[in-house]
Amino acid sequence: MTKIHWFDTHCHLADEQLASQADDVIARASSAGVAELLSVATDVRSTLACIALANRYSGVFASAGIHPNHVLEAAPGDWDEIVKLASHPRVVALGETGLDCYWKDVPLAQQIDYFDRHLELSRQTGLPVIIHMRESGQPILEQLERNSALGPIRGVMHSFTGDAQMAETVLSLGLHISFAGMLTYKKSDELRDVAKIIPLDRLLVETDSPYLSPHPHRSVRPNEPAMVIHTAACLAEARGMSPADLSSVTLANSRRLFALREST
Ligand SMILES: [Zn+2]
Repeated sequence: MTKIHWFDTHCHLADEQLASQADDVIARASSAGVAELLSVATDVRSTLACIALANRYSGVFASAGIHPNHVLEAAPGDWDEIVKLASHPRVVALGETGLDCYWKDVPLAQQIDYFDRHLELSRQTGLPVIIHMRESGQPILEQLERNSALGPIRGVMHSFTGDAQMAETVLSLGLHISFAGMLTYKKSDELRDVAKIIPLDRLLVETDSPYLSPHPHRSVRPNEPAMVIHTAACLAEARGMSPADLSSVTLANSRRLFALREST
């Protein structure tokens, strides 16, 4: 029998809601079969906190980056700090980066500048980028297309909620697609249809915890990595696969994208 082993590719373990109970969160994840997770940073401080968590728990990995909603708060030396931290051995990805046109308080030009910095650092280091997209499909595609002329893009569109055409385009740019709790919501039939057409070798799962609790625990806050099993079960059902088969595929994809060695 295949052992179920999930990889939550996007959680904010350094967020106070989870960090304050990290031992319990990790223990619950591991009893649910979520043996590995990527703790995603949003600024310099959280990058340092993610690295500290990754140093403490063997199944936890860290990203380094500045979230588009936080670029206005970035101090002049912060980007240099991210560049330095990106070479830390527990850092396996950059971000989260991307563009957010939902909250109107950060000018798009500044978000584009930081997204470009992450993409350039990704080309230099080989680390994949974690891309946040919220009501920003068109400007993101334009920026990705412009960057793809400079070299291949490695990374993931996280918490994907786009349509089939958007999925095709980001896949053609070489990106992976990761699904979070929205996939499980009753109204998400269209998203589940999109999830069926993603090539198996590009699929990832995530919680985006402490946000986006999946059905049937939507009212439970905070969300946490153990909950990725509900999104995964929904994805397996949509694709007509067993959870065990989906777990081995998404685990292999996660380890390949984040360049992790096979462990036992
Ligand atoms: Zn996130």
